Amino acid sequence: MYGSILDSLIQVTANSERDALVQSLLTTLCELLKAQEGGVYWLGPSQSGPEARRAASVKREGVQLVFASLQNSPAILVASDADFSRCLETRDFASSPARPGMMRYVHPLHGRDGIEGFLEIIGPEYAEDDEKLVTGFLQVFRNYVRILDESERDTLTGLLNRRTFDRNIGHLLSQARMNDAMDGIPSGCRREDARAQSRWLAVLDVDHFKRVNDKFGHIYGDEVLILLAGMMRKVFREGDKLFRFGGEEFVAALEPTDEEGARAVLERLRQTVASFEFPQVGQVTISIGYVRISSQDVPATVVGHADEALYYAKQHGRNQVCSYEELLSQNKIAPSAPMNVDAELF
Ligand code: GH3
Ligand code: MG
Ligand code: MG
Repeated sequence: MYGSILDSLIQVTANSERDALVQSLLTTLCELLKAQEGGVYWLGPSQSGPEARRAASVKREGVQLVFASLQNSPAILVASDADFSRCLETRDFASSPARPGMMRYVHPLHGRDGIEGFLEIIGPEYAEDDEKLVTGFLQVFRNYVRILDESERDTLTGLLNRRTFDRNIGHLLSQARMNDAMDGIPSGCRREDARAQSRWLAVLDVDHFKRVNDKFGHIYGDEVLILLAGMMRKVFREGDKLFRFGGEEFVAALEPTDEEGARAVLERLRQTVASFEFPQVGQVTISIGYVRISSQDVPATVVGHADEALYYAKQHGRNQVCSYEELLSQNKIAPSAPMNVDAELF
């Protein structure tokens, strides 16, 4: 028994992606408990109270546990589910008879700010130590997720770090590819309406930041970076991904929006920063270059193009937002030679 529990723990914590970790946790516990069904739900707000959304689901088919589709699985209003409600109230697990010979157990998933979700197990009644087993697994899971979260972030600003960017950029590009595939129109020659919603990548750099450090010292420089990161969090949308790319350089990967929406949010950030009185330091400005994320891009071209637009902004007075496509169409910069995926390997 101990051997199989240890093996299971090793298997679960071998995952460094959160979604894979959740799926692995769920199947492992269902195997250990000989459950018929299991689910992981995350809590989210809704107009009529908290809602539980299914994030992973498994069902036993014969001896095999298979992942069930999450399509058409509606959010559950917590108030309408006695086990979920009890669980939220007592912060402990709740149980009820599910069907003949089967119990339903609901365990809270604790996060930094309270209960973040639920684990649901439907199967035979727990044996003596099963509850402890599940609670123990969930504690290991919680600690591990915390370490994963921390390793994704920059310690000074709390934004996502460069390593996380490098891991995410491929995913962003494949999402762009999927959008194009659904439209059936290759990127680059799409109609205006098909182009309306795209993802965008912006590179932001603090203007004359060296002067801030030289004049006021590194500590004040650091404080500027922390305050700037705070402004970014406020101005961008919840789903936009914000990274500290290096020293005083940041990257924002925007959720699908049209050109106007992308420009507006970047311009708003530029203005917010420029009109803020930084303690001691006074006025600080930023320059921004941005580009549409196209399905044909490889990571180096997306960042490279946004960087080119940023460079243009730096060369033409700083404290401004420049679009790569606009600069191209106005012949202010030259198109770079297309980079193909093979070339990226060298
Ligand atoms: P530009 O407008 O052309 O971007 O000028 P700049 O002075 O911002 O650019 P440069 O690249 O010459 O200098 C960046 C400076 O950022 C150099 C370094 O002192 C500072 N820096 C980089 N990382 C940190 C950090 O973590 N904390 C602090 N305080 N300063 C940093
Ligand atoms: Mg700079
Ligand atoms: Mg820089």
